[in-house]
This record gives sequence, structure tokens and C-alpha cells, in this order.
Amino acid sequence: MRFDTKLVHSGYDVTASTGDVVPPIHLAVTYDRRAQEPVEYFYGRGENPTRQALETCLAALEDAEFALTFASGQAAGAAALSLLEPGDRLVCSDDVYGGTHMLLSEYARYGVNVEYLDLSTPDIVLPEDVRMVWIEAPTNPLLKVADIAAIARQGPIVLVDNTFASPVLQQPLSLGADITLYSTTKFIAGHSDVLGGALVFNDPAWQARLLGYRTAVGSVPGPLDCFLVHRGLKTLSLRVFRQVANTRAVVEALRDCPSVGRIHYPGLPEHPGHAVAARQMSEPGSIVSFEYLGDVAKLMERVRLFACAVSLGGVRSLIECPAMMTHRPVPRQTRLALGIEDNLVRLSLGIEDPADLVEDLVTAVNEAERQDG
Ligand SMILES: *Cc1c(COP(=O)(O)O)cnc(C)c1O
Repeated sequence: MRFDTKLVHSGYDVTASTGDVVPPIHLAVTYDRRAQEPVEYFYGRGENPTRQALETCLAALEDAEFALTFASGQAAGAAALSLLEPGDRLVCSDDVYGGTHMLLSEYARYGVNVEYLDLSTPDIVLPEDVRMVWIEAPTNPLLKVADIAAIARQGPIVLVDNTFASPVLQQPLSLGADITLYSTTKFIAGHSDVLGGALVFNDPAWQARLLGYRTAVGSVPGPLDCFLVHRGLKTLSLRVFRQVANTRAVVEALRDCPSVGRIHYPGLPEHPGHAVAARQMSEPGSIVSFEYLGDVAKLMERVRLFACAVSLGGVRSLIECPAMMTHRPVPRQTRLALGIEDNLVRLSLGIEDPADLVEDLVTAVNEAERQDG
């Protein structure tokens, strides 16, 4: 089966007794042993058929042996960090997702040594004795692109947070990474109505370890959530390619606006990560950020179709200002040192008609000429 067929078929075996083309949602948390031969299901925190169906699909999409799902992207990240021991050295992208920063601070308290580096630096050489590298590519909100294959060749455990690209646009395991992490809340579920996370990998020892960890701490997603995420997957390719096309249209229009400064999008030839992105991604994605030369707060008031909200990857277009919203907890000096200016605006493009999105945004952006001075 090819990728788009797996999206629709994987984990969806027709139920023998009824012929349901969509398997029922298994809500039971405990299972009668006498009905099973061999006994496979004990208790919902450990095993659940609806969750397993989703995991079958997620593993298949990356031709991987295993996928484990979690209650959120954060819970998936915490599980991955449980592979480390006190004293282990972890290197992470410097402008990593804010929640990841919070999570790593928690683990630093348990003796994991965390270092932040600009992993998009060309020909970067990792420090010695690094146990795990945590790569976000592209990053948020500047869309910096680390060369996954070049970092993976240096030997440590490589985890790629592939939330921004989704498995449609980038397949980290095929580039040499060891673990792909997803916040399935974003593109995979796609409708901003469910939280979830996943780890995808090939090592059977990790499967035993991570499954044991998840059962012990109880960070499982519920069956209704798993059903929604699995349903979202069916349209993932359709949505993502439409979102990319909408992004290209919006970027093209923004380039002609006098009140728009630098645009950060790996699809643009002048973006520093353009060449690497062209090698490791099939398309440059649908998140874009730009410097706005007018009043950012007023711009966010003026747009009608873009919701002014955090998160990303859903069917509805979103606008946000990292300095005021997603990256507000990062101290201003650190933020500026990373290149995240106060006037940076981030967009997540949805699946609306591109002409409507362009009209809405360009009208709001150009209003600056008249209003913001
Ligand atoms: C949202 C997000 C997460 C965290 O996922 P949740 O589902 O919100 O817990 C992790 N990494 C990236 C890149 C994200 O965008």
C-alpha cells in the first residue's frame, strides 16, 4: 500500500461479524478473560483496541515497527525522555517549542544535562558524549531547518519532533532518526478538537520500555480521542497539500506588501534553510512568519477569517504574535537573541479558499499604511 491508501485503510480492518467499515469505538476498560484465546486484553490503561488501531496506522505511515500514542504531545515527549538516565547529556534545538522547553526543565531537575544549540548551523558538530539530540525541523516560529541526516550520522539517539511537517511532508526515520515525535493535536488530527501525541520507532527494546512506562504513569489517550485522531488521519494528505498551496499564495501576496518586512518560509529561495528543506521535505509546509512594520495588535484585530489563537495545523487559519502569545514565557532578551522580534507574526494556514485568505490578510496588512502610521 502507498502512503495515501494507508491513511484510509491502515488499522481499519472490516469487523467480521457485522461488516462495519469503521470499527466500533472500544470504551470498555476491563475485559472478560474467558472470551479471549489467547488472553490479550486486561485493563484499559495497558491495552485498548481503538488505541491500537490508531497506532497501527501511525507506524505504517513511516514504515516503522512501532507507534505508541499518548494523551498529548507533551506526554509523548515525557515518555521519550524516560529513555535517559541521570547524568545523560541531551542537546536540543535552541528555538524549540515552548512546551518542550518547560518539559526539559522538569527533566533537568532529575539530572539530565540539557544544552540548547542552533542545530540548523551548517556542518554542525555535536559535543562529545551526547546521549540524545532533540531536533525540531522546521522550528517555531522562525522555521529554521536542521539537516536531520547529517546529525543522525553522528551517532546519538536522534528524536525529531515532526509535528510541523507531519509524515506527509517529512519522514525522519528514513533520514536516519531513531524516534519521531508528534503532537497529533496539530496536523494529524487537524480539526483543533482533540489533544494527542505519538512516538514512532523501530527498536523492540524501546517498545517494551515505553509501553511499560506509559502503563505505569497512565499517560494514555482515551478511546474517543483515539477515534478522532484516527479519523483525522484519513484526510491528512488532502488537507496538508491544500494548506501548502494556500501558504504559497499568501506568501506571494505578502511579498508585495510595503508594510511586511522579512518573511520566514523555507519555500523561499532566500530562506537559509531552503536547500536542506528541499532535500528532506516534499513541500515546505504551511507555517509562515513575517515581520510586520505596522501595529501587530491592530493587525490581529483587523483580520476576519484568521482566528487570533495559538496552536497550528488545523483546517481553520490562525494568526498569532509569538512575543505576545506562544513565546511570551521566554525572557525578552533571550527571545531577541534568537531572532524572535516583537513585531513577528506567525500564521498557520488552513484549508479555506486561498483568494479569501489573501484578501482578508492583505487588506488587514495594508490598512497599516492608513492607520498605524
Ligand atoms: C503543540 C506542540 C507540542 C505539544 O503538543 P500537545 O499536544 O499540545 O501536548 C510539541 N511540539 C510541537 C512542535 C508542538 O507544536
